[in-house]
Amino acid sequence: MRVLKFGGTSVGSIKNLIAVKQIINDSQPKIVVLSAMSGTTNDLVAITTAIKEGDQIKAAQVQSDLQSRYDLVIDQLITNAKIKPQVIGYVDEIFAEIDRLSQEDFTSQIGEAIVAQGELLSTYIFTHFLKQEGVNATLLPALEFMRIDKEHEPDQFYIRQNLKRVMAQSTAGDIYITQGFICRNYEGEISNLQRGGSDYTATIIGAAIQAQEVQIWTDISGFHNNDPRFVSETHSIEALSYDEAAELAYFGAKILHPQTVEPLRTNNIPLRLKNTLAPQAVGTVITHRSRGEGIKAVAAKDGITALKIKSSKMLLAHGFLSKVFEVFQRYEMAIDMITTSEVAVSLTIDTITHLEAVVRELRQFAQVTIDHHQSIICLVGNEVTQHPDTHHLFKILKDIQVRMISYGGSNHNISLLVATADKKKSLELLQEYLFHNVVA
Ligand code: ASP
Ligand code: MG
Repeated sequence: MRVLKFGGTSVGSIKNLIAVKQIINDSQPKIVVLSAMSGTTNDLVAITTAIKEGDQIKAAQVQSDLQSRYDLVIDQLITNAKIKPQVIGYVDEIFAEIDRLSQEDFTSQIGEAIVAQGELLSTYIFTHFLKQEGVNATLLPALEFMRIDKEHEPDQFYIRQNLKRVMAQSTAGDIYITQGFICRNYEGEISNLQRGGSDYTATIIGAAIQAQEVQIWTDISGFHNNDPRFVSETHSIEALSYDEAAELAYFGAKILHPQTVEPLRTNNIPLRLKNTLAPQAVGTVITHRSRGEGIKAVAAKDGITALKIKSSKMLLAHGFLSKVFEVFQRYEMAIDMITTSEVAVSLTIDTITHLEAVVRELRQFAQVTIDHHQSIICLVGNEVTQHPDTHHLFKILKDIQVRMISYGGSNHNISLLVATADKKKSLELLQEYLFHNVVA
């Protein structure tokens, strides 16, 4: 059995929904995981923010615009006179539920319940569209089997047992449809796997059923060797290892939710990235095996803050680093890059939620300087530290001020920190030298 996940754009228009139907209708057994239609989750988050801020007018406005978009889609997509009233009835119920939740006193729990409605809508509409087209599909409610534990990690045992149970209850059919992103927490309340989490749903399910393969269908043909939004003439990479894909996803390549490969890595299940609008394109396959050598891809992650933490003593006395890390740990802040010198340590973070408090504590035993608007440029490949290209990196980037470099932490990643203002130029220079053979 395979698991196929389709993202927001793939289910975001009538044309694309028809393309998805064609892709999945091949009489092979599968579980299909769907995101919310594009823009929906953003709107639901906007509604949540508005009610949190007490702006009921804004919440109602966003909701009514969103509902009009759904009315339009259903009007065009669902033409069957028997099925249409069912779908309209369901969508009305969902919007009534959002309305009801908006009236209550705001809690984060209410916010999560509102944000969950997008996937409920897309899966219901799509399953009924399939029915109308004569394709037999069964809707599996994710809220009955997807669960996270106290550490927000998927509860694999619970998921396996309950997914089996829900599948066994359903009648015939080779196609199961379910919601990405949404789940319950350990107390049974509605929660989610963070923005972009539908990819993660697909691989968690893949591991639970020991799928033959998991496929993530988006609007681009797999991982590209550089960011196509900033650099021209990028191309897709046919094969990557789990490690390489995880580094790329974590450090900026938006195509995949960063945790996605984990459930598959341990079970040795291949992950294939495909393009809904170009299904014949090979895309990228991700397995244990690393193919080729040298730097295969470059990605950039923005919104990085760099801290230089200088010991008040002349040298980095023992215990200094552990004191620094202890502060970050207390505020549950993850550190992405780190470099040290004799008297100082530089590190980067990608969220500034507790920055003020962290800096206040650090200043009790160190001097701290802060640089915002930084980007991590991540170079990924096989045995990169040994490849000759690596030795030319400073020459290639000679006009760029590289603020930090992380080299040797793993064999498939080198990270550079530059000012975000220099990001595009850096990506272009790397593209020319690494992939277009321009001599440094
Ligand atoms: N709909 C959710 C989001 O927009 C989950 C996903 O699409 O993966 O973040
Ligand atoms: Mg996504």
